[in-house]
Amino acid sequence: MSTTASLAADPSGTWTFKEQTYRPALTTRFRALKGAIRTTVETNDALRLSEAQANLAPEDITPREDFGTGDRADREAAFQRWAELMATTGVLESLPKARVLDGQHFTADYVREAARRGELFAIDALREQGRSVEQTEPFATDQREETLRRLRLRNYRAVEKATDATTGELGRVLSELGAGITLRDAANRLTTAVDETGLQRARAIAHTETQHAFTQTTLDVYEENGVESVTPYARYQTAGDSRVCPQCAPHHGETYSIAEYRAGTAPSPPLHPLCRCVLLIGSAQS
Ligand SMILES: [Zn+2]
Repeated sequence: MSTTASLAADPSGTWTFKEQTYRPALTTRFRALKGAIRTTVETNDALRLSEAQANLAPEDITPREDFGTGDRADREAAFQRWAELMATTGVLESLPKARVLDGQHFTADYVREAARRGELFAIDALREQGRSVEQTEPFATDQREETLRRLRLRNYRAVEKATDATTGELGRVLSELGAGITLRDAANRLTTAVDETGLQRARAIAHTETQHAFTQTTLDVYEENGVESVTPYARYQTAGDSRVCPQCAPHHGETYSIAEYRAGTAPSPPLHPLCRCVLLIGSAQS
């Protein structure tokens, strides 16, 4: 798919932000963790896996950073603590809740951008209908400020879950590395665990949290400007295209009150990973 097609297929206009700004901010951290694991396990043999291979000569054991000279279980436990430390500090940058709410976490900038895009989208939608819009400055109302704080914590928790899942999976894989495994295989299995947990979740977070933030501030602006109902709008290309939103297509054109969105009884984008749907101003009904 071309970049142009991607942009055209994302009604919120945030595809490039999600893919090229927020996603890389998360994925570079998990890739850094993968690189550190590879060096630790393969280059440094800090788990001393090579010692399990009887056919290695003593001179093959080179100076390395290691996890001590205890038995393998001790080193694996040390590896696990190291991986958790890397994930918690290097990837997540763990912070107390109050500081996350105040916007001090690295994700705060991305949350703010996604939420601001939603504000601007809603302001444009209102103006296109000839309405005058008040409070166009970023997060100019108490409601939007509170929404932003809530979104910051939500994004932080999502990244926290991703790092927890990653270290949990590393522990599981580590416990299953048999005696005699090659360092390459060990490093491959451990880095694959990062691919299949942290990196996959990072991409999902960039999309889902951007879309969720976008929807929440869109609703705020509509509500503050007296719009009674909005329409979930699923824009898709051709049928059979892999980019179609099958969960969302049936909702296209449906109208729900903002109260229903607030109550969680109306379909609120994102409904699924990589959902690109937005809420347009709907016609009042009921
Ligand atoms: Zn969708």
